[in-house]
Amino acid sequence: MASIRIDHGIVLTMDPQRRIIKDGSVVIEGDRIVAVGKTADLAGAHPADQVLDATDKIVMPGLVDCHVHHCQTLLRGLANDIDLIAWCYDITYPYESVLTDEDTYLSALLADIEMIRTGTTTVADPGGYRMDHVARALIDSGLRGIICWAAMDQWSVDRPLPDGLPGKTTTDEAISQQERLIKEWHGAANGRLRASCGLRVEPNVSDALYRRTQALSEKYGVLVQFHAAVNRDQVEWVRRHTGQTTIEHMHTLGVLQENWLLTHMAVLTDHEVELLYRQGTRLCHNPGATLKGAYGAIRHGKFPEMIEAGLTVGTGCDSTAANDSLDMFRTMYLVATAHKEFRLQADLIPPEKALEMATITGAKALMWDDQIGSLEPGKKADVIVVDVRRSNWVPLHDFSLVPTLVYSGDGADVETSIVDGQIVMRDRRILTVDVDDVLERAQHAAKGIVARLRAAGVPHMGKLLPRWPVV
Ligand SMILES: [Zn+2]
Repeated sequence: MASIRIDHGIVLTMDPQRRIIKDGSVVIEGDRIVAVGKTADLAGAHPADQVLDATDKIVMPGLVDCHVHHCQTLLRGLANDIDLIAWCYDITYPYESVLTDEDTYLSALLADIEMIRTGTTTVADPGGYRMDHVARALIDSGLRGIICWAAMDQWSVDRPLPDGLPGKTTTDEAISQQERLIKEWHGAANGRLRASCGLRVEPNVSDALYRRTQALSEKYGVLVQFHAAVNRDQVEWVRRHTGQTTIEHMHTLGVLQENWLLTHMAVLTDHEVELLYRQGTRLCHNPGATLKGAYGAIRHGKFPEMIEAGLTVGTGCDSTAANDSLDMFRTMYLVATAHKEFRLQADLIPPEKALEMATITGAKALMWDDQIGSLEPGKKADVIVVDVRRSNWVPLHDFSLVPTLVYSGDGADVETSIVDGQIVMRDRRILTVDVDDVLERAQHAAKGIVARLRAAGVPHMGKLLPRWPVV
């Protein structure tokens, strides 16, 4: 069994005591962490096949991104500066309708490269429709991840879905597609892959689909990922059709449960926060997407209150067409800053909380904290090494370690990444995939997608013109 020992690092354990061990080691055997402590105590007792020197480096758990759409990476640049509803129905769904299997695989690999490069080791994908190819990319890239089918079973004249969208299905088919992915992928690749249930957005989900998805998730003991209360328009749509808000309606249906991960949650009442707290429902905050897409999660949302109350709140980057970065360092920065400005309160959401959301609490949001999210013996070996002998980290004090990580750190500072005991990036070189080859093929594939969208007469494409002369 291959073993790795990382020595002389500043080990940010994220264990229950939140210990930070200076001149520390992490010992890995196979896919597991077997020891964490002072290098002086561990080096002699744990000879290893490979020893990595982490002097002047932080050794920490790999980051957990609770929300990334792998299939939307090739949409980068096509959906800027538009309202969420237009973002979904005018461009994103038409885009997902023309994707091929190979486009999806390349889009996913490209996302995985960006995530590995910036320290993410686990990602939850809230769904698309060619998810077997996302699974394939996760297996090839070496990342840990959750996939699902983003189920839909209803649509209306005010929110039309393109005919070629694979997600435009009956309730039965939406359920069977979810179940097929769970049967095929949940637990694959030494447990590195999981599958969950998934629902897309309120206007496309019938009451029957909510209920049957909950039953399916109970049958398999899996998470349900759902975009809920993304902005005011969505909540108003639910109110018009049910007389309730999203969370109240879910509660009425009996699906506001602890295995649900609700993402965005931009428009909420105090009563809904109370319901979420009582039910133990999990949440994901995507600050980059709400800031760019003007959803309202900073202005109207209750994330500071929900975090303070102890709800399980993870965080995510969303997609390269919504945020548009997959760098969790940037996301941690936004979590710890955006609310301060809006509430005029400089100590709101401390950096330690943002780091927890990106590691151990994020793992809990994905129902995976028994295995990942911290550096502790017995847990899966998902570890990153961050170089802090760089201009953006100096000076560094014991008391400013985590604040500097969140406020000054950058994904580009991540030097080495280990997932499930496998080194996927070493000294900033990704070892699992040929990066140059993927970049070239992804660029080529994206041009093909643009051509197909133009040929299909998608009106939004007519708006995509350079605002400045390109000569
Ligand atoms: Zn999403």
